[in-house]
Amino acid sequence: MSLSFPSRDYAAELNPEQYAAVMSQERHVLVIAGAGSGKTRTLTYRVARLLDDGVPPWRLLLLTFTNKAAREMLQRVTELTHTNISQLWGGTFHSVAYRILRRHAERLGFRAGFTILDGDDRRSMIRAVVKKVMGSMVKKDRFPKPELLLSILSLAANTGKNWEDILLRDYAIHAQHRDAIDSVFKAYTEQKLESNAMDFDDLLLNLVRLLRENDDLRADYAERFLHVLVDEYQDTNSLQEEIISLFSSGAQCSLTVVGDDAQSIYSWRGADVQHILDFEKRYSDARIYKIETNYRSVPPILSVSNAAIAQNTGQFAKELRAARPGGAPLPVVVSAGDSSVEAFFVAGRIDELLASGMQGKDIAVLYRAHSHSLEVQMALARAHIPFRVTSGLRFFEQAHIKDALAYLRLLVNPFDATALLRIVEAFPGVGAVTAQKMVGVWLRQVRAWFEAHPGESLISEPHSRVIGCKGISSRHHPLWSELLAFLDSLHPEGAAFLTSADLMNTLLKHLEPKLRSAYDNADERLEDLSQLAASLSSAEGGVEEFLSQASLISGVDEAAQDDCVTLSTVHQAKGLEWKVVFVIFLGEGLFPLYRVIMNGDPKLMEEETRLFYVAVTRAEDRLYLTYPRYNGGSYDYRYYQPSRFLTSLPPEMVEVQEP
Ligand code: ATP
Ligand code: MG
Repeated sequence: MSLSFPSRDYAAELNPEQYAAVMSQERHVLVIAGAGSGKTRTLTYRVARLLDDGVPPWRLLLLTFTNKAAREMLQRVTELTHTNISQLWGGTFHSVAYRILRRHAERLGFRAGFTILDGDDRRSMIRAVVKKVMGSMVKKDRFPKPELLLSILSLAANTGKNWEDILLRDYAIHAQHRDAIDSVFKAYTEQKLESNAMDFDDLLLNLVRLLRENDDLRADYAERFLHVLVDEYQDTNSLQEEIISLFSSGAQCSLTVVGDDAQSIYSWRGADVQHILDFEKRYSDARIYKIETNYRSVPPILSVSNAAIAQNTGQFAKELRAARPGGAPLPVVVSAGDSSVEAFFVAGRIDELLASGMQGKDIAVLYRAHSHSLEVQMALARAHIPFRVTSGLRFFEQAHIKDALAYLRLLVNPFDATALLRIVEAFPGVGAVTAQKMVGVWLRQVRAWFEAHPGESLISEPHSRVIGCKGISSRHHPLWSELLAFLDSLHPEGAAFLTSADLMNTLLKHLEPKLRSAYDNADERLEDLSQLAASLSSAEGGVEEFLSQASLISGVDEAAQDDCVTLSTVHQAKGLEWKVVFVIFLGEGLFPLYRVIMNGDPKLMEEETRLFYVAVTRAEDRLYLTYPRYNGGSYDYRYYQPSRFLTSLPPEMVEVQEP
């Protein structure tokens, strides 16, 4: 075995364990270590080392928890190696799946340019399907709500379990609906195929199906990747696990995964910490590296972190040692009269920090649930402190943005029934039934057109020529013609000649009066749309690529572009770090959640504890732990005890302050 000389001094920038993992020539490498111990750094340096050794970038696959994390890691790799790595595939499982599926969609019965349905689209589609399948029986029979149906389906997809088993195990009260649910699920699947659309779970499911059913593709990809590297491995579910093994099945391929069992916080989405614990069993030649030094946090914060996770008996015991010097102040605990006092305290402290020269991007406020952020959002706004909320409604999920995108989606994918439904449902005087009818009319004619034009993937003549009014009641003819004329104005020569520059301007002009009559903050919304126009015209890959990016972008991805304070759920904060961290709403029943306390399942409580561990380990220099003694609206105003996560900390580890 020969090691070439790396272009830089890796040993000087890594500790001996990290260095060994970076240089390892083993086929299966696992780094399992606590928070802030440099797992992500190790993975980044390993990528750099492989490139230094001459592995071509396109033969590496880096799977990360967010696309932003991948971008940051690859940016760092570029700095380290000074090579062009645009050929290297890095991103989330979903983004890699999309990349592959769009090339081979036809093999699964989809067309190129398929739509990705986000949460809202899925709900609207399944609602329509339930209505169609169940009719008026829905209300009478207390049929499960769309959200519940989707979460059953999603859990089944991500755990590889049968949905019926999940139904019987977790939702036995709905057992009598089994047959009806089966029909709904089948119709939902058909509807997606017909609309040429996939939801997030489908991206992963269809990728696996594509590779399983097509020996040539499986062999191509297995041969392509010489190294597969995975960050945050503790949160992979069995579907993702299968994708990893398909990609890394080449005889030459090596697999490196890094993670921390104590930070597994996605079991509710099907993640299974057993994958990381069983890595050794699965790969008998696996080489395990453990890191016991924490580089992120000052010693007092690390003590609190160690104490927080020590409460969990289900964890591998690991005690992290601080690499940073002592002498830092203790983490601060603040008990506030109510949530507005708490928010006022947080905003005030942030104001002081900013005044003392700290940057907003070095500060985060973390909480268990998105709704816990409202008071702090208001307090920061009042104090004119710029902030970004990564947990809430994302840019692309706002109604006015989705309205605008619906037109683009329809042009790019004329089978996108959800997009058309969104457009026609907004017509004055058009109810759900008429809207469905209109969609039917549209689809029939689109289908006929494509049958007459085999080989075309976009409609290449004006819509008004392709789609007529037959089947639309005469009362709605004017609206229908107006829609077709508008689509024509977006692309006078047919969708095949779509260009993004003029498209958005025409769209903006069309939508402006609608927005003005529908919203009192129309100006802000128009600003959003111009923002959308700007990013669309600068997007590489045209409208089609832009639309898929819009669906794939996660809340976290939008964060931290500018210098502003981050507000985030703990879940979304995974893997990140800030100089100062506030963990708020630490009341018993708020964090841990009341639901978990009442449920009584120790497994759920252990996950809450891990979540608290993830929260406190985000902090580098200063940590504030706060809670409101009273919180709630006029109906549910109640008194809160401090969280068990606070009361179980040794008192000498924290300093109690008045708000
Ligand atoms: P998490 O579990 O939260 O994902 P992690 O184990 O991935 O954390 P990193 O984010 O890679 O940890 O590293 C934490 C911090 O420590 C980073 O700022 C990183 O640059 C720094 N760090 C890690 N290893 C070293 C080292 N050997 N020398 C100096 N700094 C280091
Ligand atoms: Mg990390």
